[in-house]
Amino acid sequence: MKERKHVYFFGGKITEGNATMKELLGGKGANLAEMSLLEIPVPPGFTITTEVCNDFYKQGKENTIKLLEKEVKEAIEKTENIVGDSKFGDNTNPLLVSVRSGARASMPGMMDTILNLGMNEDTVKAIINRSGNARLAWDSYRRFIQMYGDVVMGLNPIEKDDEDIFEEIIGQLKEEKGIKMDSEFTTDDLKELTVRFKKTIKDKTGQDFPSDPWTQLWNAIMAVFESWMNDRAIFYRKLNNIPEEWGTAVNVQAMVFGNMNDNSGSGVAFTRDSATGENVFNGEYLINAQGEDVVAGIRTPQQITKKGSQDWAALQGISEEDRKTNGPSLEELMPEVFRQLNAFQKKLELHYKDMQDLEFTIQDGKLWLLQTRNGKRTGTAAVKIAVDMLKEGLITEKEAMLRVEPQRIDELLHPVFNPQALKKAKVIAKGLPASPGASSGQIIFFADDAEHIVKEHAGRKLILVRIETSAEDLKGMAVAEGILTARGGMTSHAAVVARGMGKCCVSGVADLRINYKMRTVTANGKTYREGDWISLNGSTGEVYEGQVETKPAEMSKDFASLMELTNKYARLDVRANADTPHDAKVARDFGAVGIGLCRTEHMFFEGDKIIAMREMILAENTEERKKALAKLLPLQQKDFEGIFTVMNGLPVTIRLLDPPLHEFLPRDIKGIEEMVEAMHISESRIKQKINALHEMNPMLGHRGCRLANTYPEIAEMQTRAILQAAIKLKKEGIDTHPEIMVPLTSSIMEMKYQENVIRSTAQKVFTEMGDTIKYEIGSMIEVPRAAITADKIAESAEFFSVGTNDLTQMTYGFSRDDIGKFLPIYLDSGILGVDPFQVIDREGVGELIKMAVSKGRLTRPSLSVGICGEHGGEPSSIEFCHIIGLNYVSCSPYRVPIARLAAAQAAIRFEN
Ligand code: PEP
Ligand code: MG
Repeated sequence: MKERKHVYFFGGKITEGNATMKELLGGKGANLAEMSLLEIPVPPGFTITTEVCNDFYKQGKENTIKLLEKEVKEAIEKTENIVGDSKFGDNTNPLLVSVRSGARASMPGMMDTILNLGMNEDTVKAIINRSGNARLAWDSYRRFIQMYGDVVMGLNPIEKDDEDIFEEIIGQLKEEKGIKMDSEFTTDDLKELTVRFKKTIKDKTGQDFPSDPWTQLWNAIMAVFESWMNDRAIFYRKLNNIPEEWGTAVNVQAMVFGNMNDNSGSGVAFTRDSATGENVFNGEYLINAQGEDVVAGIRTPQQITKKGSQDWAALQGISEEDRKTNGPSLEELMPEVFRQLNAFQKKLELHYKDMQDLEFTIQDGKLWLLQTRNGKRTGTAAVKIAVDMLKEGLITEKEAMLRVEPQRIDELLHPVFNPQALKKAKVIAKGLPASPGASSGQIIFFADDAEHIVKEHAGRKLILVRIETSAEDLKGMAVAEGILTARGGMTSHAAVVARGMGKCCVSGVADLRINYKMRTVTANGKTYREGDWISLNGSTGEVYEGQVETKPAEMSKDFASLMELTNKYARLDVRANADTPHDAKVARDFGAVGIGLCRTEHMFFEGDKIIAMREMILAENTEERKKALAKLLPLQQKDFEGIFTVMNGLPVTIRLLDPPLHEFLPRDIKGIEEMVEAMHISESRIKQKINALHEMNPMLGHRGCRLANTYPEIAEMQTRAILQAAIKLKKEGIDTHPEIMVPLTSSIMEMKYQENVIRSTAQKVFTEMGDTIKYEIGSMIEVPRAAITADKIAESAEFFSVGTNDLTQMTYGFSRDDIGKFLPIYLDSGILGVDPFQVIDREGVGELIKMAVSKGRLTRPSLSVGICGEHGGEPSSIEFCHIIGLNYVSCSPYRVPIARLAAAQAAIRFEN
């Protein structure tokens, strides 16, 4: 058997990996190899495979080192050979390396990185001798001690970022020296910092800071593997459905120095605009800085292109003069480097056929690329880039459709500020439009607090306000409506993560004064406290005082053309769950081809209907019940007329009354008094009746078709309302396709009984009105027994609609309303991988659905089957529905576009 290879070299012609090897080498490693093959200047190095990460967790540190020893030594030698004159651990000409994680899917900032590895007192001297730059040498060394201290020696466990031990030491020294900025440190100060850092490490850990480069290297590699299981990484994986088994690769790479001198720098660039999708090269850089400085948001970076720099200055109110002297673009400052970078970005985008996110370093005038990856983008950008690339002939229609994650479309459908309300709103600050959208919420300063508050009070709207964010803030960011930061550019942590989450974000608002201790933020001379409302416009960078009203988003042409394409490929139809003409209109505008579920119970809460409904429920006998139902009939008929009119020409599935009746009963004294008046009976009698209707387990009680099987007059009234509405509209030229659906069926007898009531009522209506209308009768499949006996139920039902909410509830025996009590624990402990009420459980519930489809079609080969639970708008569930050959999914109106795209993607992925 061929021995397994654990280490892959990259750099120049002897590169061993390539872009197709992401599973083994991680995204970063595979792309570094690919760039080397494309003859783009990449500092040489090697990737330790993701498989070794799994070995590490099985075998531990010592065995992993043994496993790797020979290959890592060889790879270091190859690196030395390519760099040419330096050697790892050498005291006269040392090779320094970076050690970084790199998983299969990009996880920005989640795992650890160590730069300048290989430094010690001797190598510092050697670097000074060779470069003549003592400041660079000591600055690099102190940064290395800081990173290594954090990552390998565990000095700053995840705490609030204002408690960083090393930053405290830096702050102390600044105070002693009477300076404010890191750049004001002298070489001696930096040297002093290394001494203080090492002393603190010794005091806190009892260990000396290692000076042997090989010890440093092995420990760093192991620490990166360990960081795969840190809290941040675990949380990020959960959020993005990244399996733990994937593991991370480790990339060891020769260092290049962006902080060597003023002819050096580091930057991040995007081949297209990651917020809008516009086809413009853009990015940010800092002179005399290492890569981490650009994303950390400590210094506000400058723009790469002249145009970008001018736009940015205009946004900030900076004059052209000031811009040219204080913040010129790379294009102006280093035209030759910019020319090369521009050529590389074009080459890379053309090669990968997708928008790229690049990291680069300029060392003494020479450009190096450190990373390329498919760039994260907003939903708006994803749609625009896919449609543009299709037009440019770069990708095919199918590829264009697969490029957009269905869930991301959600952002395009989110409200924007109402322009009228915006006119009155007061702008209190302006920053960078880091992630588009509009959001209002109450100010909160700490991510932990945000997380806690939302846990306790679901639905609270919060805006996380930070000087800058870091990976520790991730959970707080996830629950906030929007994010506002005082520092940082478009590539700051806050901006990148917010775009990834599809959250509105305004970053780099230099005018904000945030006081974490007092929990206040001052803007425009006014101080706001925690809990005060503010609003953010992530598309313009504006921050407003108070709550600003929003309105629905308007669809772009690109969005419309992508949606148009879905029709060409999707095999599943997408219908909507809608109970009002308004919802039906929204759904139809979004491209729904019918209503898959109209829940009639929602209609009974409007206006006077609830009183008549209560009268019906509290009735003593059939006669009384019929009297109440007679009041409801014209009102209900009007409801259906409204919906049928909007859905002219399309099918509308109307479900007969379903919920347990207690849901309609008065809960307060006012409601009881209304009933006393309406029914002319005493309060105590009403209360008695309410008590009599109490059920121990209402979700399994007198609900669904059991209601109309015990009180057939309910089904009669509803059937009448549906068919009378349809025939009335027919006379007006409106084309209706009513589908009457029986809920919670568990046996053929229940279904047949309902069918009889519906058909006999229909016959009466047709005779009375002297006209007929075509209609269908179907069954919901939401009780396991219905799925198991679907062949029988299909004898009566002309269509099936799977109620995946109830079917999940009854298959698992998890109460839909009480799962919140244990779901978080089940998800955390891995008992459940995902919430089965969101994503169809293919193994259990899914098997029942498959059974319902095949048994149902055995009896009735042309049986149409759809789903109408919450899963109907969830991409993975939609994929499952496609695979098992359903006819449609039905979801809430705003999810219709998501469902259409997911249906098209499923058809492309599972062709034939
Ligand atoms: C279902 O159970 O999936 C369903 C659509 O019905 P409801 O949510 O109204 O119970
Ligand atoms: Mg149901």
